[in-house]
Amino acid sequence: MALDGKYVLSIYCGFANFTFPFCLMSDLLARIQENLEQVRGRIEAAARRSGRGPEEVRLVAVTKYVGPEAARALSAAGCRDLGESRPQELWRKAEALADLPIHWHLIGHLQRNKIRRTLPLVGMIHSLDSLRLARAIETEIPSSDRRVPVLLEVNVSGEAAKTGISPEAVEPLLAELSGLPHLDVRGMMTMAALEGGPDAARRDFAALRELRNRLLPCCPEGVALTELSMGMSGDFEMAIEEGATIVRVGTALFEGIEG
Ligand SMILES: *Cc1c(COP(=O)(O)O)cnc(C)c1O
Repeated sequence: MALDGKYVLSIYCGFANFTFPFCLMSDLLARIQENLEQVRGRIEAAARRSGRGPEEVRLVAVTKYVGPEAARALSAAGCRDLGESRPQELWRKAEALADLPIHWHLIGHLQRNKIRRTLPLVGMIHSLDSLRLARAIETEIPSSDRRVPVLLEVNVSGEAAKTGISPEAVEPLLAELSGLPHLDVRGMMTMAALEGGPDAARRDFAALRELRNRLLPCCPEGVALTELSMGMSGDFEMAIEEGATIVRVGTALFEGIEG
């Protein structure tokens, strides 16, 4: 953050995990409230355009570009679904903000050696991308009755650089997942192609929706395909028009905030 001068002159509040100065915190909060309101307004307009209510689309605020204090401000502004793409960063923020009722979403790759520490902190994993990972998660869940909500990450664009399973692999994987009682499969996630502009992105979002619609009738027991997590700052309105139930927005929420 380019705040050093102000930072040094400011008065700190004394909470263990919260040393951000009051005066800057209020600036930060005001800015985040404003950005959040704008993004919510755009979500609502896109939902209405596609004949849905705004409550049918959940906003996950992606905090990977900012520190815990900005994540705290988001929570104070009423946004309780926060997402991180790296497990270590999710741990860091979830532990720093453990006093808040935040629902954490892991939206990036989960390495198997990071499962144990991630599971107790996370409300939903958007990036289930192999049976191997699913089995590893299943064995890490204590015998309690907790089920972990997960989404299958699907590489609909087919871009080589993208993670996620191929669309053809989804149906056989669902059959295997229905045998893992602690995994609560709720739907699918995708990222639009980087190449090809808005037309390609719309095609990818539509392809995920169509895949879901095609698989619904033969969906195995215990597996739901209700959620479609798709759309980021550059394309979330289009994703909503194509059926997104969860959008993952970072950049647009932090405009005007350094850090
Ligand atoms: C970073 C990230 C986002 C948010 O991207 P923005 O363009 O900053 O809104 C969404 N989804 C995933 C998987 C990400 O890694």
